[in-house]
Amino acid sequence: MTIVFVSIHIEKSPPAFPLAASILQTAVEESPGLKNCKADTREFYMLSTPSEIAGELTRSKASVFGFSVYTWNASSVIETVRLMKKQNPDLQFIAGGPQVTAVPDEFRKTGLFNLIVEGEGEAAVPAWLQNQEQTEPAIFDFEKSSSPYQRLLSEKKYKGLLWEVSRGCPYNCAFCYESRGSKSIKEIPQQRQILELKLFREKEIEKIWVLDPTFNHNKKHAEDVLQRIIKYNPEAHYTFEIRAELMNEPLCSQFSELSASLQIGLQSTDKQVLKSVNRSLDAGKFLQKCRMMSSWGLTYGIDLIYGLPFDTIKKFLKSVDYAVDAGPNNIDIFPLSVLPGTELANKIEEWELNNEGFPSYTVTGNSHFPAADLKRAAEITHGCNELYNKEQAFPWFRTVLKALKVPASVLFEKYAKKNKDKDDVIGFLSHEFNSAGKASLFGVIESFILWSRTAEAAFTNPGTTFQVQLCRRPEMLDELAETDVESFLRKHPASKLRKYQIIFDGRELYIN
Ligand code: SF4
Repeated sequence: MTIVFVSIHIEKSPPAFPLAASILQTAVEESPGLKNCKADTREFYMLSTPSEIAGELTRSKASVFGFSVYTWNASSVIETVRLMKKQNPDLQFIAGGPQVTAVPDEFRKTGLFNLIVEGEGEAAVPAWLQNQEQTEPAIFDFEKSSSPYQRLLSEKKYKGLLWEVSRGCPYNCAFCYESRGSKSIKEIPQQRQILELKLFREKEIEKIWVLDPTFNHNKKHAEDVLQRIIKYNPEAHYTFEIRAELMNEPLCSQFSELSASLQIGLQSTDKQVLKSVNRSLDAGKFLQKCRMMSSWGLTYGIDLIYGLPFDTIKKFLKSVDYAVDAGPNNIDIFPLSVLPGTELANKIEEWELNNEGFPSYTVTGNSHFPAADLKRAAEITHGCNELYNKEQAFPWFRTVLKALKVPASVLFEKYAKKNKDKDDVIGFLSHEFNSAGKASLFGVIESFILWSRTAEAAFTNPGTTFQVQLCRRPEMLDELAETDVESFLRKHPASKLRKYQIIFDGRELYIN
């Protein structure tokens, strides 16, 4: 018997990595009772039609196919299986993954699948292949499993990958699939983590997304994993999901030894909104921890969601302004997706969570957050992406806000509207300073922005020399991150336009 585990990714990108399929392939190969079973994996992208995917899978001559199903590939999987089954009714199909775990009955109703896996598949799939009855959801023990990476990385070259270090989340955010999973946390055994880190280094993997829903929920766990990374593979770039309130100086120190991006789910700052989705926020502590991360030079981003229960446009604007004040490198804002099977999806009527349905389940408005306000929030999101994220504005953005005396959300909204006229950032801000009667402050702001842009370009292109014309010395301009423009001009009144050459040699930044 041959079984093929199928991944259908959204698009070609480093995080599009067939981890679930490889884990299942390894589990089948290691099952003593499945010595005669050959397991394989196949990868596709949403660009391929179900008939193209069905055609290629049929040519594989396997008799059993297992699919990892997510919200965005569910219809593609169902249509692919329908086509394959029509051509050969003897084929057998397995469906598993977050979408199946969330709404198993929807998949049962299709009548297409021979096995529906709710939760982990490493024990359930081999057991089913051996015709063992499963009365309880099968729980898998990491201590008994092998790494899926060895074979995968020997067969194909990947620049980036998903690295699972633990499974399960102790929190229960009402909008999240994870909240339906296990509350107990299972960690990959230490020796296996070390072997995997060594393998990633040998295979020159550049980017690693650490799969651990809240990496620092347990400080000891986080410190130990970071210690292993620093010892066995410090060269790659790592991305972690963390909780800001749980950060401390030792963790900051460890993260600062790595090239790392930390992503923080803030979602909203409003107490009522957060309570409705089983979250909370200590606003003072959150800001204090963000300042601490900034002082260590860490790269961190903040996620926000608009359209949650009780959310309003006013509350959303406050959340955006607060997020900017926390000084992150990027702010990622999303409209709420009411994912099937989550706690929120079960309260659609109670909380008027009208949504577009499959595949995005994006909110479409309610009495708190009408459609017109959702449109406005989307526009502010666009302004934030263009003016803050793409521009990498975090070093200078709060100085600009202080000088103009406007909240970030107002500037994002104005930029989103102006941007339709293709106004660039310098042109837009020059106009804003002129309109506010503060044109005299803009010269030094412009130099601060140009200096930030040039330093960023130098850091991302080591060995390349960049030229920039500034009205003050770069190290003097850096003071603007901590002070207001008026005080700066009083301290440094003399202005002289001069060209500077900037180069980063991989270790130090040189300014001539
Ligand atoms: S949003 Fe994050 S913290 Fe909340 S349940 Fe999901 S994974 Fe856990």
